[in-house]
Amino acid sequence: MRIVIVGGGVMGCATAVELAARGAKEILLLERAVPGAEASSAAAGMLAAQIESRDEAELAQFVRARDAYAAWSVALRESTGIDIGYRRSGVLSIARGEASLARTRSDCDAHRARGLRAEFVDRAGARAIERELSDDVAGAAYYPDEAQVDPPQLLRALVVAATRAGVVMRSGTTVAALVTERGRCVGIDLAANESLRADAIVLAAGSWSSLVTGVPASIPIVQPVRGQLVMLEERPPRASTILFDDHAYVVPRGDGRVVCGSTTEHVGHRREVTAAGVQSILAAAIRAAPRLRDAEFVRTWCNFRPGVLSDTGMPLIGASPLPGLFLATGHYRNGILLAKATAETVANAVLGWRGPFGA
Ligand SMILES: Cc1cc2nc3c(=O)[nH]c(=O)nc-3n(C[C@H](O)[C@H](O)[C@H](O)COP(=O)(O)OP(=O)(O)OC[C@H]3O[C@@H](n4cnc5c(N)ncnc54)[C@H](O)[C@@H]3O)c2cc1C
Repeated sequence: MRIVIVGGGVMGCATAVELAARGAKEILLLERAVPGAEASSAAAGMLAAQIESRDEAELAQFVRARDAYAAWSVALRESTGIDIGYRRSGVLSIARGEASLARTRSDCDAHRARGLRAEFVDRAGARAIERELSDDVAGAAYYPDEAQVDPPQLLRALVVAATRAGVVMRSGTTVAALVTERGRCVGIDLAANESLRADAIVLAAGSWSSLVTGVPASIPIVQPVRGQLVMLEERPPRASTILFDDHAYVVPRGDGRVVCGSTTEHVGHRREVTAAGVQSILAAAIRAAPRLRDAEFVRTWCNFRPGVLSDTGMPLIGASPLPGLFLATGHYRNGILLAKATAETVANAVLGWRGPFGA
């Protein structure tokens, strides 16, 4: 069975690894730039299942995905020698005013009622967990099982794992269009005037997914949502717990690096780090952990979350309305968290499908 994967972000690479692990042989991954060039290496790397979920179903799915990372990180280290920086660093979700305190307390109750660990802590309790926390914090929800990975390391490990498993990766290769015959997707056209046929095509082009010609109109549009990030460095390392404050966050890597984010901007694919973006990120980070004021400013970057334009905004995963075309895209803020779970679902769908060439 010949499988073509369009896009070498975390979705494309994890799906390739999963397909190869299940015995698929001819897997070709086509990447416009180099694998991991875009959102997947740019992410903050939080596995923040309890913080990020919006409803009960998502909570269960996100928690499963988060908890599966412990074993996945070990498997990737054993097979590639690369440490993906998995750390169960916990999250403190900060509350300042009375209303926010009350909401935080009831969030903790709701999580505990579902058998998850969550603790409401007052200011002293919060500072006992993270001594770098600001004095103006009234209390916090502490989620000790929330975790993080180092996304560039994750992508390196996936590329090595895929290559060792026999996946062929072509960098610098842009897919221009899907080729459809008699109502089935049977291949792709490359921008460089070359066509490739395949039994299954997996669209994993992140926030560029809707720009590939031939994607059926019935599939919701994936649009870019820009996020900017700032890397600081503390010497010696001080902060250790992820701090979450509405949409601002501080993610200490544990080795002195601290990733601070982020913005949420609908500006198309404009690849710009802005003065206002950096200002707002640093103001929120320093407000949460004042000693970050003295940390070294290392660098800034931005990238594009793939957001799905639909009522639910749910990611697009598995079989599509076009036979032969499979989707692994639209994961918005949680693509790192959901990578392995998505790869498993997509691999099941692809390997359960009999392609047009009678595979
Ligand atoms: C600032 C920021 C912070 C984030 N923080 C977190 C976080 O803490 N936790 C979390 O879980 N998620 C986070 N995310 C979200 C996460 O990064 C994304 O959901 C995830 O990386 C999407 O992966 P992907 O493989 O779909 O897309 P991408 O990583 O963007 O990969 C798509 C790939 O497809 C390639 N491509 C595009 N078009 C074509 C084409 N026509 N032909 C060939 N190749 C093509 C691109 O070059 C790219 O390499 C964050 C995102 C951002 C931007």
